[in-house]
Amino acid sequence: MAEELRRLSIREAQQTPLARVLQEMTREGELYRRLDEHKVECFACGHRCVIFEGLSGICRVRFNRGGRLYVPWGYVGALQLDPIEKKPFFHAYPGARALSFGMLGCDLACPYCQNWRISQTLRDPVATRLADFTPITPEAFVQLALRSGARVLTSTYNEPLITSEWAVALFREGRRHGLVGSYVSNGNATPEVLDYIRPYVDLYKVDLKSMREKGYRLLGGRLQTVLDTLRWAHDRGFWVEVVTLVVPGFNDDEAELRDAASYIAGVSPFIPWHLTAFHSDYRMLDTPSTPAATLLRAARIGQEQGLRYVYVGNLPGQVGRYENTYCHGCGALLVERRGFRVLRNRLASTAGTCPDCGTRIPGVWG
Ligand code: SF4
Repeated sequence: MAEELRRLSIREAQQTPLARVLQEMTREGELYRRLDEHKVECFACGHRCVIFEGLSGICRVRFNRGGRLYVPWGYVGALQLDPIEKKPFFHAYPGARALSFGMLGCDLACPYCQNWRISQTLRDPVATRLADFTPITPEAFVQLALRSGARVLTSTYNEPLITSEWAVALFREGRRHGLVGSYVSNGNATPEVLDYIRPYVDLYKVDLKSMREKGYRLLGGRLQTVLDTLRWAHDRGFWVEVVTLVVPGFNDDEAELRDAASYIAGVSPFIPWHLTAFHSDYRMLDTPSTPAATLLRAARIGQEQGLRYVYVGNLPGQVGRYENTYCHGCGALLVERRGFRVLRNRLASTAGTCPDCGTRIPGVWG
């Protein structure tokens, strides 16, 4: 699939008015190097596309014009004020609002993508027809966040890595006003892009979609890159949480879930692991939704592998204790949730220390 996508050129994309307009919403990128007069290598994501003049990378939104790499700039393709629990981050600023934006395009092509209308722009003709965007400046974006009472800015909905120059522009402005930057990412990163965003991004969610190379090939990625990203991000001091959308027949096999939990625990047993329910979407309309019993089984596997914080999402009220945070020291209930709502936060007045036993709870509690 990667090769097939690579062959699509920016000239084909120019057939659509949207693509023509988007080419104007760009500026020269920073996450690339020139290989020669006509050829560049992009390292904004793990594909590391080598792009010849007149062509675009796999994501379709970064392209070589005149021997330089041009990247998306100056717009948002989706904009929403979300609770931070929706990202999901459960160990970072509970109850905070996150002004969340997406751009257009993606470096993977997941057949069950829930944001395919923006992520598959310039690749899927239906998505391209439906896509829309709003021009905005970093100053206006941050003023909007402040007026909305947001504490956090989040690049999400499509893959943030591929538009990292623009995210850094927004987050740099946000930081001047005390706002926290965050990524909701598929984890197809490079060390270079993580170093580039680290000064402005504190929270990093990695979507671990499968533990099988075959699974990642289907999506257009590579397993090892995502596993490496998880470790790189943790080692660089991002606050990392991991999500696995459990899709029946794709990654709900017990051995695969065990491998995922074991890998995460090997990086750190204190990384929260969110197991979320799949609902039919995009090209997987015939696949049934994930039953609660499957997610509860997966959660128990996570705990057996040593993970201290395992959560089950997308099924509010159906998963018992797996929506809440309990102290890994004494088992006390610390944060009580229902779906994305925080009902009680006992860490609010202790800055992240268990009020019953004094254990420091991993996370960023504000
Ligand atoms: S962001 Fe990734 S997919 Fe897009 S051009 Fe760069 S390396 Fe290729």
